[in-house]
Amino acid sequence: MKIIDAIIPGKPFVSFEFFPPKEQTEWPAFFRTVERLTPSRPLFASVTYGAGGSSHRDTLDIVSRLKQEHGLEAMAHLTCIGSEPGQVERFLDALANQGVTNVLALRGDLPKEVTPETYPSRNLQHASDLVSLIHASHPELGIGVAGYPESHPEAVSPAADLEALRFKMDQGADFVVTQLFFDNAHYFNFVRRARSLGIDSPFIPGILPVVSLKVINRIVSLCGASIPPAFMAKLEEADRSGGAAAVQRVGIAHARQQADELLASGAPGVHLYTLNRADAVLEIVEGLLGS
Ligand SMILES: Cc1cc2nc3c(=O)[nH]c(=O)nc-3n(C[C@H](O)[C@H](O)[C@H](O)COP(=O)(O)OP(=O)(O)OC[C@H]3O[C@@H](n4cnc5c(N)ncnc54)[C@H](O)[C@@H]3O)c2cc1C
Repeated sequence: MKIIDAIIPGKPFVSFEFFPPKEQTEWPAFFRTVERLTPSRPLFASVTYGAGGSSHRDTLDIVSRLKQEHGLEAMAHLTCIGSEPGQVERFLDALANQGVTNVLALRGDLPKEVTPETYPSRNLQHASDLVSLIHASHPELGIGVAGYPESHPEAVSPAADLEALRFKMDQGADFVVTQLFFDNAHYFNFVRRARSLGIDSPFIPGILPVVSLKVINRIVSLCGASIPPAFMAKLEEADRSGGAAAVQRVGIAHARQQADELLASGAPGVHLYTLNRADAVLEIVEGLLGS
């Protein structure tokens, strides 16, 4: 089923994002995490692609198992930069063969060591190129794209970034999953600006529970999201007074508060960046959608 067809106004949902564990030996523990989260009945579960060095095969194998063995609606992330269209189409064929019907179409980032001479392929430069390829070659697939409440770090301006998002939607994308943010005002402003441009698709807010100061500082430095100073001060105070466990408590409470406010204000659902951890996610979703 396409995810867009499962999003029903007034019926809020949670969805989960996983990443493929680095080593095959970690897969049994990973699928135990999935089993612990499945009773929360996510609308869908997505699996990252290529991020952190994981292989494309890993993404394909994991989404297939989420769908076939765990009964979850699965979405594979797919990046296009540096790829040949034929390569991408083979991945899409493989997804379709496994009964996976949703893709998050992304540009991705080239490794820093790539130079103009070693650039593998220039055929697919933007996520919009991938959206139009998927839409034309696999119309049976549902297509999500990334959106940036605080703008993509390379964007010329917030307005240009939003125009690029509109172009992605126009190429055939169904919905947006946002980059993480820690102040809901960024999401509300982003959606308002998008609506004023005529983008009326669902915007699913991405929420990351802070589970460690080190991890969050690394993630934020990579994706360009900001941490409100008051929240950072609270995390640092928790670290000083209670260490890692206290930081995690503050992080989870903040994520839950964000999720409650987002849903109460009409967000279609919340997408949780699980970091492949069950405990933190279970605390956030407990009672979140009511009974
Ligand atoms: C929800 C989510 C999931 C993600 N999952 C993964 C993953 O699994 N694997 C991974 O490697 N990365 C992942 N990423 C990171 C993503 O690959 C990077 O943020 C990447 O830098 C941009 O990808 P994009 O799809 O947003 O690119 P694009 O939409 O192509 O945008 C990239 C930049 O180019 C600009 N732009 C876009 N289109 C045009 C155009 N036509 N002309 C001029 N400028 C344009 C935009 O304004 C933006 O600044 C994810 C990000 C999010 C938010």
